Amino acid sequence: MKNVVIIGAGVAGLTAAARLKDIGYNVTIIEKKTYDGGNVASWDRLFPDSRRASRLIDDVRRPLGEGVTIHYDQRITSLVKMKDGRIGVGTESLGIIHADALLVASGFSLFDAHLKEEYGYGIYDNVYTQADLESMFSSGKVLTRSGDIPRRIGFVHCVGSRDEKVGNRYCSKVCCVTAVKQASEIKQLYPDAQVYCFYMDLRMFELPYEDMYFNAQKLYGVRFIRGRLCEAAEKMDKSVILKVEDTLAGQTLNLSVDMLVLMAGMRPASDTARIATMLGLHCNKEGFLTPVDIFSRGNETEVDGVFLAGTCTGPKTIPQTIADARSAAIRIDEYLKKRKK
Ligand code: SF4
Repeated sequence: MKNVVIIGAGVAGLTAAARLKDIGYNVTIIEKKTYDGGNVASWDRLFPDSRRASRLIDDVRRPLGEGVTIHYDQRITSLVKMKDGRIGVGTESLGIIHADALLVASGFSLFDAHLKEEYGYGIYDNVYTQADLESMFSSGKVLTRSGDIPRRIGFVHCVGSRDEKVGNRYCSKVCCVTAVKQASEIKQLYPDAQVYCFYMDLRMFELPYEDMYFNAQKLYGVRFIRGRLCEAAEKMDKSVILKVEDTLAGQTLNLSVDMLVLMAGMRPASDTARIATMLGLHCNKEGFLTPVDIFSRGNETEVDGVFLAGTCTGPKTIPQTIADARSAAIRIDEYLKKRKK
């Protein structure tokens, strides 16, 4: 039986593994963390239907069964194309695994919000990222650092995305809709709270996402202010005072919030460059892996037998990631059937 190795046990890796196992391959997943589900594992609820993230992970994990082995807490030490066409996948504790095909599904990391020092993440008590807020939703407690119910909450879009200053000009695709989801959740939790979203453009490109935006305004009273946050400073009472250029009204707003939530963008996962170097894969200038052709060969690389799936090639929603992983499984099957031996 042919062996497929997958790097990454996130949603893309698990989805592709289930398909490949169903087709009849022996699948080994190498995961650097001690758990599966990738970034989704640290999320509480997902847009657009508010299903639990854990339920989605259960759904993609359930079909795995026998035929798929996941090795957790593993660091890839070598990736070598061998003379017989297979790929040698080396890790610190497993030795070399021989793969007839390799799928890179190494995912993404969130932009490090500390790098936008002017927003005060890690400096001011009540500045958070969307991931921090999601942990609060999971724990059932959305409170300020001093344990109070927040009365005013601000969401800042495009933190580390569409931002020349940090070298990331691309849109991270999911943070507008995440802000709308979280702003609506806050209003469901605290109907009297004042919730603001500070955005440059709202990119709500799927039908249900536009409904979420509509509901955020009409049902929950979230206020959307088009403009950039210029300054954030901490007050004595640990609230955060904001100076925002409202570009539609043509005026500068000064307001204070009890919580400021930064919508950090997507970056290539930390080990993407290392994997690319070991295999001779191409990365774009943003550091994401690039397939041979984004239209017709979106899961293939220039290296025979090495395939790509999920957000290692750029920002994607979860449905797009799942579709991409299924497509990768089909491409791998086609490749291995052609290779025969
Ligand atoms: S999805 Fe929205 S918040 Fe995220 S980078 Fe794009 S425009 Fe900015």
